Amino acid sequence: MIDCDVHAIVPSVHALTPYLTSYWREQVEQTGFKGPVDSWYPQGLAEALGHVATDATRTAAAVFSGPNSPSLAVLTCDYAVETLHNPDASAALARAANEWLAAEWLARDPRFRASIVVPSAFPELAVREIERAAADPRFVQVLLPVRSESPYGSRNFRPVFAAAARLGLPVALHYGGAPGTPPTPVGWPSLVMEEVAGATGVFQTQLLSVIAGGVFDEHPGLKLVLAEAGFAWLAPMLWRFDKNWKGLRREVPWVRRPPSEYAREHVRLTTAPLDAPADPGQFAAAVGQLGSDGMLLYASDYPHRHGDDHAAQCWDSLPADLRRRISSDNPRSLYRL
Ligand code: ZN
Repeated sequence: MIDCDVHAIVPSVHALTPYLTSYWREQVEQTGFKGPVDSWYPQGLAEALGHVATDATRTAAAVFSGPNSPSLAVLTCDYAVETLHNPDASAALARAANEWLAAEWLARDPRFRASIVVPSAFPELAVREIERAAADPRFVQVLLPVRSESPYGSRNFRPVFAAAARLGLPVALHYGGAPGTPPTPVGWPSLVMEEVAGATGVFQTQLLSVIAGGVFDEHPGLKLVLAEAGFAWLAPMLWRFDKNWKGLRREVPWVRRPPSEYAREHVRLTTAPLDAPADPGQFAAAVGQLGSDGMLLYASDYPHRHGDDHAAQCWDSLPADLRRRISSDNPRSLYRL
């Protein structure tokens, strides 16, 4: 089994000082520069969990224990470097976060793999960090927060996808991001619940943009992982997208096949939090709507907790060979493990 979403949380900028250049160390020590202070998660949740997944040994003890524990886990470090308006600061802290992951997580437990933290608001600098970090094969994907200042299919971001494709790395869009823009297309919600439940809309926007923008036609080997996104919304969205593509495809001659075909070939989705119908007996049908056994990737999303008993009932309702594909075959093939 492979767990495709385990969080590694940078406790504060001070944890990164050994990995900063002398210039940035001085900024932290003498000017009070705190690095990113926003979080991908609502503040209360971030604080409640902030002390949990900050340490490799304790995280490994929690993730790799128990009868059905995974043999490998892919770390997602949700350090909000995209909130920094100084491009050099954003790049310096992304690099330090990756060096911290390499030295204090990957070197301490061979069962960890990691996602590359990138200064996602600055594509040129993001490409440089991807190229630097990818020299270490324990970094198995590029991590982008799903909330960005503009959609990822726009031309600005094309160099990031090109770099990932060139290096054979999947790009993961993970719940979160704090680009300073609202998390809904109609402005700021009032409640945390609206933001969390409504995040599927942000994933849909990004997926529409990446497919319509022709990213997959440009990079036939590229894979896009949607992490902490759920999955049950995808099939109905693709029904609509395919229909609109038939009517409007003269606008996008580079999208040569129905969008659902690109999605099945290029898109993967993690299973936590699980979009689960109230009746676990209907779960297999929801999975079947995806039209492919190869799209889902098992994940725990540790240390976040997601009503695990109901998820387990849904999980048990799937045939054993499909469970094996989701928990082992699909992640192994995606990350070449
Ligand atoms: Zn996650």
